[in-house]
Amino acid sequence: MSNLQIDGKTTLCGLFGYPVAHSFSPAMHNAAFQALELNWIYLPLEVKPEQLGQAVDGLRAFNMAGVNVTVPHKEAVIPYLDKLDQGAAAIGAVNVIVNYEGKLTGYNTDGAGFTRALKEETGFNPLHKKVVILGAGGAARAVAVQLTLEGAKEIVLVNRTVPRAQALAQTVERMGTPGRVLTWQEPQLAEAMSGADLVVQSTSIGMHPAVDYCPPVPQGVFRPGQLVCDLVYNPMETKFLSAAAKAGATTVSGLGMLLYQGVLAFELWTGLDAPVEEMKKALYRQIGGK
Ligand code: NAP
Repeated sequence: MSNLQIDGKTTLCGLFGYPVAHSFSPAMHNAAFQALELNWIYLPLEVKPEQLGQAVDGLRAFNMAGVNVTVPHKEAVIPYLDKLDQGAAAIGAVNVIVNYEGKLTGYNTDGAGFTRALKEETGFNPLHKKVVILGAGGAARAVAVQLTLEGAKEIVLVNRTVPRAQALAQTVERMGTPGRVLTWQEPQLAEAMSGADLVVQSTSIGMHPAVDYCPPVPQGVFRPGQLVCDLVYNPMETKFLSAAAKAGATTVSGLGMLLYQGVLAFELWTGLDAPVEEMKKALYRQIGGK
């Protein structure tokens, strides 16, 4: 941030969350602004749940270009917005707000960030592909809706809390993609996983510091020619991903999704192509200098 200059023309962006101290987004976006020599700044803004409405009023009052929204505000912020993008409406959660002349539109770039990362890293196209998603939380919703929008053939959802998976299956069915629910214990899970073109691990199992844990998937379900992703990005190689890699599957960590949800947010706010390499370098510096 050595050449940072703030003046009366600096455009403000930020992150609403609670907490926000550990977010990688400020480093990633400020690196992007600097790379393009934009007089913009991105601030982490800790917003208590009971003050979310006031924070959105502040966004308007300060004429901010927009914000990212993270836990626990992604769903709660929706009633305060003027408009919702189609994907955000289907997901039921917002991670980006754009302020255009005082009108606030909510977007969700998590799902599109995920599929963009797969395309960039492996060339994968979801069209007509069979998918298994482990988990049915907020990240799974974003990924399932985006895979549906991009023409996936079938989505199998596996979740500890079955009604959550059923609700997501209903969403993808309404959007035109067959959705099936399995439990972790069902014998059909092994066949569904080994037959899938894409397996997405979207539970929080294996996330730092619980790095020795792995979702309870059956033995022998990974194979060469299959793409296996873990949305967890810390660590970059979870136990789950390392088992898939050992069996010859192509593996992708959650870091690409984190990068590209930010790239897409940057492009929504600025209307410019994001400096992806600079953003990636900033992210890698944050995650441990690798
Ligand atoms: P969430 O809404 O809280 O959902 C958590 C999911 O994990 C639910 O499906 C939950 O199942 C499941 N789960 C948690 N502990 C479990 C356990 N012990 N056994 C079985 N299932 C368990 O969280 P989220 O926002 O979806 O995030 C999920 C993961 O994705 C996190 O690790 C997060 O860091 C990662 N993520 C990554 C990115 C990225 O950019 N790479 C973006 C968003 C999230 P139940 O429904 O049964 O509770």
